[in-house]
Amino acid sequence: MEAKSVDAEGTVEREAELLAWADRHLLKNYRPQQVIMERGEGSVLIDTEGRRYLDFCAGVAVCALGHAHPALTEAIARQAAQLVHVSNYFYNRPNVELARALCEATGYDRAFFCNSGTEANEAMLKLARRYHHERGEPRSRIIAFHKAFHGRTMGALALTGNPAYMEGFGPHVGDVEHVDYGDLDALRARMNSEVAAIIIEPVQGEGGVNSPPAGFLEALRPLADEHGALLLLDEVQTGVGRTGQFLASQTIGLQADAVSLAKGLGGGFPVGALVVTERVAGGLPPGAHGSTFGGNPLASAAALCVLEHVNQPDFLAAVRQKGAYLADKLAGLAEAHPRLATGERGQGLLRALVVTDAVAPRDMLTVMREHGLLVTAAGRDGLRFTPPLVVTEAEIDEAVARADRGLTALEGGLS
Ligand code: PLP
Repeated sequence: MEAKSVDAEGTVEREAELLAWADRHLLKNYRPQQVIMERGEGSVLIDTEGRRYLDFCAGVAVCALGHAHPALTEAIARQAAQLVHVSNYFYNRPNVELARALCEATGYDRAFFCNSGTEANEAMLKLARRYHHERGEPRSRIIAFHKAFHGRTMGALALTGNPAYMEGFGPHVGDVEHVDYGDLDALRARMNSEVAAIIIEPVQGEGGVNSPPAGFLEALRPLADEHGALLLLDEVQTGVGRTGQFLASQTIGLQADAVSLAKGLGGGFPVGALVVTERVAGGLPPGAHGSTFGGNPLASAAALCVLEHVNQPDFLAAVRQKGAYLADKLAGLAEAHPRLATGERGQGLLRALVVTDAVAPRDMLTVMREHGLLVTAAGRDGLRFTPPLVVTEAEIDEAVARADRGLTALEGGLS
C-alpha cells in the first residue's frame, strides 16, 4: 500500500497531487526537487511517500540540532504556549537572555535580532554607513568579494555582487566594489579613506565552500584599522558551530566590528542576528533600524535552546572531529571516482566534494536523492555536505556509501 499524507483536516493527499498543486500555486523562483518532505528525525528526512533520506543538506546548514530535537521541540512548544510576540515596544525575557548568551558566546557587546541572514546583512550594511555618518565623516564605499553570497534583498544583493542574481533588478545599491577572495594585494590597492567597511565570509559557503589562503583573514583587521574602515563578518553560514567553533572567526582569533548570524541560530526557526562591538554600536541609534518580528519571544526561545546546546566545548570538539572524519571520507570518494571528483574542501561540518567539469553539481542532486542522500550544490564545482551538527560517524559512513553508489550511477551515464 502506498504511504499517504494526512493534513490537519484529515484530508488525504498523495505526492502527485501535492506536486501538481505546488506546480500550479507556488511562484517558480526556485528549482525544488520533485518530492514533498513531511517529517524529520535527527539526520533523517521522510517524504510524503514514506521514503527516508539522510539529510546532509539540513535546510542548507540550518538544522544544527537535526530534525525534531526533543529539547528544541519542547522549547518552542513551551514558549508558544506562553508568549509568541510582543513587538519591540517592550523587552521580552527570552530575547534578553538570548542577547546575553549570544554576546557571551561570541565575545561581542550588543545584539540586534531579525529573521534571516539577508536581514542581518542589511542591518550590518546600514550600520557601517551610519557609523561614519554619526561621526560626521560620511563614507559609503563597501568592499566585498567575488563569489560572495550575502543575500538577495537590494542591499544584500549588491554585496553579493553575482551578475546572475542581479540581472534585471537595477539600479543597484551603489558604491560596492568586489575584489578576488583571498587576494590581499588587490584588496590593499582598493583601500582608502572612502571605504566604510570590508565585508567577508570566513569561508564562502554558496560560492563553493572556499577558504581564503592562510593569513588572509588575519590581515584584514590591521588593514581596516589603517584606513578607518569597519570589518564586517558574514557568519550566516559559518557561525553557530558549523566550522567547529561557535564562530569560524574564533578559530583564528579574528575580532571584527560586527558579525551577522542566522541559519543554524534558530535550528530551523527563522532567526537572524547582528552582534557588534560597543565601539560601533552607536551606528544604529534609536529609530535608525528595526524589525517587527525580530527578537520575538518564540524565535528567541528557539535560538536560546540551540545556543545552549551548541556552545559547549564537547559539542564543538565533536563537530571538529566529525568534520575531519567527513573530510577524510570525501577525499576517499574523490580517489575512488577520479572522473567525477578531484578532492574535498571546507572546515568542520561545512564541506564540499570538489567535482570535475564532467558534471555540474546541481545536476548530481537528483541522483544523490534517488540513492537516499540529500546534499546541495555550492559554486561551480562544489557538491556540499552540511549535515546536522548532531550527525553521527555511523551516519557519515552511510551517507558516504550512498554518495559512492550515486557517483557510480553518474559514471555509468558518462560517455
Ligand atoms: N549570508 C550567507 C553567507 C549565506 O550563506 C546566506 C544564505 O545562504 C545568506 C547570507 C542569506 O541568508 P538568508 O537566506 O537567511 O536570508
